[in-house]
Amino acid sequence: MKNFLIIEDELRTAQSLKKGLLEHHYEVELAADGETGLALLKQNEYELIILDVMLPKMDGWEILQEIRAQGRQTPVLMLTALSDIKDRVRGLQAGADDYLAKPFAFSEFLARVEAILRRTRPNVPKETLSVGDLSINLTQQSVRRNGQAIELSPKEFQLLCMLMENAGRFVSRKELVARVWNIHFDCETNVVDVAIRRLRQKIDEGFATRLIKTVRGVGYVLDQNPSA
Ligand code: CA
Repeated sequence: MKNFLIIEDELRTAQSLKKGLLEHHYEVELAADGETGLALLKQNEYELIILDVMLPKMDGWEILQEIRAQGRQTPVLMLTALSDIKDRVRGLQAGADDYLAKPFAFSEFLARVEAILRRTRPNVPKETLSVGDLSINLTQQSVRRNGQAIELSPKEFQLLCMLMENAGRFVSRKELVARVWNIHFDCETNVVDVAIRRLRQKIDEGFATRLIKTVRGVGYVLDQNPSA
């Protein structure tokens, strides 16, 4: 699957969009007219089609209609020189996912494109979480602080994950016990405090900033603000 198909007859615009997208590590193919674009769509899957309205032979509306008539649900961002609200409505009714009036800054174009990708890409869970110089890789179950690898037990890793997912927010002992130890009733246990103490020795000792803080009577918070 390639990222983008750009159907645009103005070579300068097409090339500059392609160049900008390549710099952001996206794969791009160009088509200068609708027929070429539709032919490429038969051969490849794309994440997003960037479609100019003013094109020779078939215009953007006809191409969009044809794409949808073929049953393709690929998201489409329409580009046009016309900034009329009626065209915007027409584009969205015809099955475009968004509409951008020329001229536009590349940064605006990129923001629109990435917003569409966020909406349409399946929700892939994040692979890494980081707070300050501490980062964890959820797939490899590895932890690094300031570039240095840190070994954690599975429970300590789960505990750290939960604190990192909630960075900046208090997490109660009860929540930690429920999630990490799967204990769902009130119990007088210091299991969390003991595990936190070990976790602190591994991730905080010897570093300038303490990341795990105790909130007396509540639980714990992980953040990179200087300790009070
Ligand atoms: Ca054009």
